[in-house]
Amino acid sequence: MNECIFCKIIAKEIPSTLIEETEDLIVIKDLYPKASTHYLIIPKKHIADIREFETTDSALAGKMLMMAQKLSTALPEPQAFRVVVNNGKEAGQCVFHLHMHFLAGKTMPEF
Ligand code: 5GP
Ligand code: ZN
Repeated sequence: MNECIFCKIIAKEIPSTLIEETEDLIVIKDLYPKASTHYLIIPKKHIADIREFETTDSALAGKMLMMAQKLSTALPEPQAFRVVVNNGKEAGQCVFHLHMHFLAGKTMPEF
């Protein structure tokens, strides 16, 4: 049985606020937003993180970035945003199904 929370969201077994859906991706609102706009761009295919990408996933990787570009067009000027992918527990990953954070609406701290 798949216990992955994002797989369950993709299967609509648990609710989420859906922003966009394509053949390969969903975009949902983060349940605990860290900025006024905080979305998660999630591939429908279960991949734990970027380290698990295979060569055949290169189009999917590109689609995740192109989705970020699409989401940015709905932002107010200057349409500034940050994308973040945590890969591994030590990097801050809590959900082990690849996702790209899309953050906007506040001045971001420097790294
Ligand atoms: P990570 O720390 O793995 O990079 O990010 C996981 C993100 O998923 C966190 O920002 C957290 O708030 C969000 N999250 C965890 N559980 C849920 C959930 O059930 N629904 C939604 N929409 N977001 C979730
Ligand atoms: Zn999953």
